[in-house]
Amino acid sequence: MPKPTLPMEGGCRCGQVRFRISAAPILTMACHCTGCQRMTASAFSLSAAIPAAGFEIIEGEPVIGGLHGADAHHYHCPHCKSWMFTKPRGMDWFVNIRPTMLDDASWFVPFIETYTSEKLPWAATPAAHSYEGFPPFETYEALVKEFAERA
Ligand SMILES: [Zn+2]
Ligand SMILES: [Zn+2]
Repeated sequence: MPKPTLPMEGGCRCGQVRFRISAAPILTMACHCTGCQRMTASAFSLSAAIPAAGFEIIEGEPVIGGLHGADAHHYHCPHCKSWMFTKPRGMDWFVNIRPTMLDDASWFVPFIETYTSEKLPWAATPAAHSYEGFPPFETYEALVKEFAERA
């Protein structure tokens, strides 16, 4: 799998919000759930899990979008409304960024795919591991290790 060159920068569609990443992703994912289909206006979402210490907003003020609920910490540009990153509830050591916001996303390949139970019939990714829902919590450690060895 190609490696990203650090640091890397990215931004929303209009450029008002910009961010910088200075730590390598610990896992890369595609999610086929119907929520992600709606949020992306596409077949699936893409995520790169970045250690929180390696993620910073360098321009603009992202706002909460998506579900606005207790579980949803979806961050969007206040102007163009691009869905830029997600802070998973109760897991503040990483941030899931949308890799297509990066100025160069060519290194990105999803390592796992989730919610294949809800995927569009034609949708396929090159992910090494597929799950009907989310992977069982206890499998993440092994997935992160395997990803690090492959990356
Ligand atoms: Zn924007
Ligand atoms: Zn999803």
